[in-house]
Amino acid sequence: VTGAVAPSRANKREPVALENGGRAEIERLASRNAGLERSVEELERFVFIASHDLQESLRTITAYAQLLARKCHGPLDTESAWCVDKIVDGATRMRELLTDLLAYSELGSHPQGAVGPVNLNSVVESVTENLKASIDENHAVVTSEPLPILNAQASDFIPLFQNLLANALKYRGKRPPRIHISVQRMNGQLRFAVSDNGIGIDRAHHRQIFEPFKRLHGKNIPGTGLGLAICERVIQRYAGRIWVESRAGEGATFLFTLPDTSLSSAVES
Ligand code: ADP
Repeated sequence: VTGAVAPSRANKREPVALENGGRAEIERLASRNAGLERSVEELERFVFIASHDLQESLRTITAYAQLLARKCHGPLDTESAWCVDKIVDGATRMRELLTDLLAYSELGSHPQGAVGPVNLNSVVESVTENLKASIDENHAVVTSEPLPILNAQASDFIPLFQNLLANALKYRGKRPPRIHISVQRMNGQLRFAVSDNGIGIDRAHHRQIFEPFKRLHGKNIPGTGLGLAICERVIQRYAGRIWVESRAGEGATFLFTLPDTSLSSAVES
């Protein structure tokens, strides 16, 4: 009898104990999660404010270095001109870095704004216009399949395509860059591809290049190391995924997916 009663008591108590323990654990994790979310938000806000304020100081440095150069009577001697150029170059590079940091932190801390129809063909047209000088200088050819209209936030897609196309131009090989944009609809997703014939990326670095500040190709090619991190943040806003397929020396194809629910009703009908 004892044997029969004891397990049944234990059985009755066990779920209660588990329930209490489980609930306490869930509450502990939820509060920890809320704390972490707050810290991340504070950090993003901090980066945003710091980048913004530092840009002001940089504008001042550049303006006064140039003013000083103008104020000196007659042309500057070679060494002084070199120093002014270095100050202005350094400030310009730092401003580019802060602009990208600002864009990156905004994508993390600001909720997605109003969505509306975004014609990706127009986005690519604007981006190629922005990059016209570099396209011409490199004798590059950019082609694109007809792209869809998305229900999205317009300001997200310019930086996405601009970073991908700018990289395809910067990391060019010996031949003039050929860049092609395509899209496929498959398994409830839109799969975009931006492919180039540039220097390519070794397999070992395929994941790392999406991390902020990870640069493979050194000091001779300008860049902040934030372009692909910005692209990834944009894609994650729409619950998509971005990755690269490439081999060193054989060009690169950057692929990203978006759920096809992000298609604007303008193209569904
Ligand atoms: P940035 O171009 O400013 O260095 P990104 O985050 O845009 O930073 O890219 C990270 C790194 O990935 C680059 O420094 C480069 O080494 C590599 N990369 C990006 N795009 C390409 C490409 N199309 N072909 C070859 N390498 C690339």
